[in-house]
Amino acid sequence: MTENLLKENLKKYFGYETFRAGQEEIITNILDGNDVLGVLPTGGGKSICYQLPAMIMEGITLVISPLISLMKDQVDALNENGISSAYINSTLNKDEYKKTLSDISRGNIKLLYISPERLENDFFIDFIKGLNINFVAVDEAHCISQWGHDFRPAYKIIPSIYEVLGDIPVAAFTATATKEVRDDIIKNLELNTPLVKVTGFDRKNLTYIVEKPKDKLRFLKTYLKNHKDESGIIYASTRKKVDEVYKSLKKMNLDVSKYHAGLAEKTRIKNQDDFIYDRKKIIVATNAFGMGIDKSNVRYVIHYNMPKDMESYYQEAGRAGRDGEDADCILLYNAQDIIINKFLINQTNNFAFKRYQLEKLQIIINYVNTSNCLRAFILDYFGSESMDFCDNCSNCLSKVDKIDATIDSQKILSCIYRLDQRYGSKTVVDCLKGSKNKNAREKNLSSLSTFAIMKEKDEKYIKDLIGTLIADGYIRVSGGQYPILKLTEKSKDVLFDNEKVFVFENKTDPVKQMENKTINRRDYDDKLFNHLKKVRLELSKDRNIPPFIIFSDASLKDMATLKPQTEQAFLEIKGVGDKKLLQYGDIFIAEISEFISASN
Ligand code: ADP
Ligand code: MG
Repeated sequence: MTENLLKENLKKYFGYETFRAGQEEIITNILDGNDVLGVLPTGGGKSICYQLPAMIMEGITLVISPLISLMKDQVDALNENGISSAYINSTLNKDEYKKTLSDISRGNIKLLYISPERLENDFFIDFIKGLNINFVAVDEAHCISQWGHDFRPAYKIIPSIYEVLGDIPVAAFTATATKEVRDDIIKNLELNTPLVKVTGFDRKNLTYIVEKPKDKLRFLKTYLKNHKDESGIIYASTRKKVDEVYKSLKKMNLDVSKYHAGLAEKTRIKNQDDFIYDRKKIIVATNAFGMGIDKSNVRYVIHYNMPKDMESYYQEAGRAGRDGEDADCILLYNAQDIIINKFLINQTNNFAFKRYQLEKLQIIINYVNTSNCLRAFILDYFGSESMDFCDNCSNCLSKVDKIDATIDSQKILSCIYRLDQRYGSKTVVDCLKGSKNKNAREKNLSSLSTFAIMKEKDEKYIKDLIGTLIADGYIRVSGGQYPILKLTEKSKDVLFDNEKVFVFENKTDPVKQMENKTINRRDYDDKLFNHLKKVRLELSKDRNIPPFIIFSDASLKDMATLKPQTEQAFLEIKGVGDKKLLQYGDIFIAEISEFISASN
């Protein structure tokens, strides 16, 4: 297969000139008949990895995908690109089902999407026996692993169809980076010496922000006021919180929808669709929302409460900016969030599981407390190569006042040592503050040399500094329900080698800072962009498909930059392939021309 042929097809069907990381190698391997495990981040472009080979190969590609709502969007998007595809699931009525089967039998379909449960159906298995299926793609393959959070037993049936289909390549895709999950996928899907392609996990277009606002709601309202034209998700920890935040935003007359498991299914679907179709810009939701969402123009994901671990956070925040355009991931937290998470974890009686969850929780606590680069923290955690300084997270953007906290850190570490590394942060703080409370009296803290050596400091300052020392590895937290502070190898450097510890006082508001950070932003015509968004919304209503399937924000920004007025120029736009040109070229070219003459 020549490289050119791949590129030609990429442009023809998807409107893109170049491959993203990993795509070309994965596609070439599939076409060579090899099994593949592709681990690409959310928004990394996994779909094209199996859709493009499907178009080049003869016959049909079977795509196994966990979510019905996702299937419809994917099939809509493919058909918009001139790729005939279909899905079979429980939402089809009898006539639609029959029509789909006959379309498939007549060879009119290149990609067939099904859910794994469909493979339990003998009629269906008999049906596919008679088809020319040449390739199986398994999307969201982590669903086969019990380690992942989306375990789906029916995924285990998949290998049983290999016998029926003969020796054809199988490609599995996931965004989950952990090794346990990866190994599980290879084993359970019985992949045969697969190419395992893991690309970098850095989502450069995402700005990571951590904030501990005094008043979360006020922070949120200010942010939303400044982002009125953009679409975003607000995650809250409970149904009650979702209702509460939803109500407050509604009062501000914002375009807002909500989603949680307590709503009737019909309402849930409607609310989700309102968001996907841009009828409502904002959705407030619990973590029940999102897995079935491929909406690419999500410009921010705000966590109103701290999630239970980094995996959940990375996955949920990752729903921002799938189109590769700038987007914000904001985590709001306060002490209450940590208490609630601990409370929930303590509900279980399984000691080992409790411990595991508390360790995971501690890592996200470290994330919100670190004074280092947030992106580096994430990449380190997921085992990707990282940097010292990314210039695109709230820590890198707002490090204005660097304060030398070495002496205070030494005091804290000595105190932990004097307490024989047997107590938690409450006792450490009581001792340093010289407290006379019950706890201090019972433990006879006043007899220690570190008693009251920080009595002039705020309790909050000491607690925050302990948090930073934990986050940056100078203190280790051990034990489950009653965490104990312990020293580490690194503590010695501070205690004996005078290694410096710095904390950063955020004098600037990182959100403001980002607004001002225009250097990296693309230089497009804002007015034209907003106008084209309206054109897109109207088309979406007429045709009853989500706006981002017609064109992504990235395509519209390209149009608002290059302002194409001929078919040839229009074809230069990212995301414009043959079919999109035919279908929408005239409309958008006319709108752009009119806009230009009106503004001259
Ligand atoms: P994933 O499934 O990995 O989360 P998707 O397949 O949904 O990601 O792709 C995310 C977005 O990236 C889509 O809008 C898609 O069209 C776009 N995309 C994929 N490949 C490319 C490419 N080579 N160049 C530009 N955009 C791409
Ligand atoms: Mg995907």
